[in-house]
Amino acid sequence: MMADQINTATHPLIGRIISSDDDAMRCALVLARVAFDAGEVPVGAVIVADNKIIGVGANAPITSLDPTCHAEVVAIRDAAKRLGNYRLNDTTLYVTVEPCSMCAGAIVHSRVGRLVYGTTEPKAGVALSAEQFFEKPFLNRIVLVDGGILADECSSIMTEFFALRRAGKKRLKEQLKTGD
Ligand SMILES: [Zn+2]
Repeated sequence: MMADQINTATHPLIGRIISSDDDAMRCALVLARVAFDAGEVPVGAVIVADNKIIGVGANAPITSLDPTCHAEVVAIRDAAKRLGNYRLNDTTLYVTVEPCSMCAGAIVHSRVGRLVYGTTEPKAGVALSAEQFFEKPFLNRIVLVDGGILADECSSIMTEFFALRRAGKKRLKEQLKTGD
């Protein structure tokens, strides 16, 4: 299934009861796999309110021809539509990889109360790694942040993806050389 073809209105994870942070992150990992299968960098996100999933997102900038379609933004749009509210007060966003600067901004603007991420992203992650965005004094909202939830699983799907992509590129180069 292509990541941009998820019908989030009927996605089976919508309405699922969440019992713990690990449980929610496992659901985000299901969406990371959807992105993986579509050839996208495998990042998945879910938004939880009152212990229920109200929004889902799989990373899909390539398939949707939309550079803003990161998993977090897709999940935020999905949750806001479902709630009929542009403010996502008292919600928690779970994402498999530490958010980038665009998504960090979207998280603050959408009023998500808590962010939980899986693995860190040393180059572009701004919750902890490259920046500590959520601690900036210019922000008028406090977002609680927790990281490292199912970090190994969240990181290994990324490793798997990039290893596969490198192998694919290598194969392509060899084919070009030999003219196959
Ligand atoms: Zn992002």
